[in-house]
Amino acid sequence: MNKPDSQNTNKKLDAITPKSEDISRWYTDVVLKAKMADYSPVKGCMVIRPYGYALWENIQKLLDVEFKRLGHQNAYFPLLIPESFLTKEAEHVEGFAPEVAWVTHGGHEELEERLAIRPTSEAIIGHMYSKWIESYRDLPVLINQWANVLRWEKVTRPFLRTTEFLWQEGHTAHRTHEEAQQEVMQMLKVYKDFVEGDLAIPLVTGEKSQKEKFAGALNTYTIEALMPDGQALQSGTSHDLGQNFAKAFNINFLDSDGQRKFAWTTSWGMSTRIIGAAIMVHGDDRGLRLPPRVAPMQAVVIPIVYKDSQDVIVKAKELTKRLLAADVRVHLDDREGFKPGWKYSEYEMMGVPLRVEIGQKDLEKNQVCLVRRDTLEKMFVPDVELEETVARLMKEIQQNLFNQASEILKNKTFKAASFEEFVSVIREKHGMADLVWCGSTECEARFKAEGGATIRCFNDGEIDGPCAVCGKEGTKRVFVARAY
Ligand SMILES: [Zn+2]
Repeated sequence: MNKPDSQNTNKKLDAITPKSEDISRWYTDVVLKAKMADYSPVKGCMVIRPYGYALWENIQKLLDVEFKRLGHQNAYFPLLIPESFLTKEAEHVEGFAPEVAWVTHGGHEELEERLAIRPTSEAIIGHMYSKWIESYRDLPVLINQWANVLRWEKVTRPFLRTTEFLWQEGHTAHRTHEEAQQEVMQMLKVYKDFVEGDLAIPLVTGEKSQKEKFAGALNTYTIEALMPDGQALQSGTSHDLGQNFAKAFNINFLDSDGQRKFAWTTSWGMSTRIIGAAIMVHGDDRGLRLPPRVAPMQAVVIPIVYKDSQDVIVKAKELTKRLLAADVRVHLDDREGFKPGWKYSEYEMMGVPLRVEIGQKDLEKNQVCLVRRDTLEKMFVPDVELEETVARLMKEIQQNLFNQASEILKNKTFKAASFEEFVSVIREKHGMADLVWCGSTECEARFKAEGGATIRCFNDGEIDGPCAVCGKEGTKRVFVARAY
């Protein structure tokens, strides 16, 4: 082995801001230092670096399999939407107008009709469905697209809120409202199972208020994650569009009774925001902590080499091969010129769930050293038990991250019986309030006016008192929080 380059070996990873001190700065530090994303020359847009993109690809794979299992097919619709299409559904255009970017010129020529860069694709897909759907025999139509969308945001942060982002949007059309509603709830469950099971983020889920629903929908259902600073993050939504878009785009079909009827449509989406949620919820002062089920690298093998001994390198290669054969996403870091301690910090920053260290002593003792990223616990296991131990640890780490995040959700959710209690939950406890609401828009507006908070979703809890705001009869239990 070459003599280590002193500049490299001595280069420490710069310290990041402690999470407890300033979560906002901590977040940015981690995103940049873990090489998840970088700023781009265009304000509000980010570059997703290979490591961040590998995480997105794993998210895509898991969701895509599930979408297809449930009968959906992928397709691709254009980026540009004629203005006249976007304006067909009145609520829809009103809701999205402040965020739409427009193409006005093609080369030097001004276009006759402006083209919107899609903020979402209901309009263009609705138009196509009206061409494709003729008879009840054509239903249901179950299509998903993986795409980018653009919404002109004023305040942006990598992953959490960016002007351009990646997502999937499902768009379905059905013969009956009941069938469409089943689809809406089914996809909400797909999101919930994925985020809790694979991303290890516990959620609250439920219906949005009419004020907070998707523009143009009858009802929106959401999955909401709670960040350690007490702010909620909308992590996926599923919309019952009723017949609103079918009427606006004339999606009708001839039913078996000989009547022409409008279809019932749905849409549902999850975006790269979810990566921001995973960073926020699981990360610590050393950087990211990624759940094994989605981690681009589940384990990293680091040989500790002294005096040019090749035995350790050979062994490290063997361990890597064995883990690959056991379906572990493993990476061997045998780069020369970097001290093991420096590498440890780097992979801790990147949140790799498990580190496998192998040195001369371990060779002699027929053992390997494993270090968990979630607990930093170090253990020595017999060489022959490597595969089985790693498989077990992957499950344990996944579960431990979920349990820790569940504690945040539990400890940051407070019941509030009065408006004073609500304000205290938001302003002093920095949490999410679980309270009874009368259903009026006046009371809903006060959450925003005096707490900067919104109803995240309804919940099934018992209506055990009057409206926490006005004292009139309660009709809904709701989660109220500030949100990213
Ligand atoms: Zn009220």
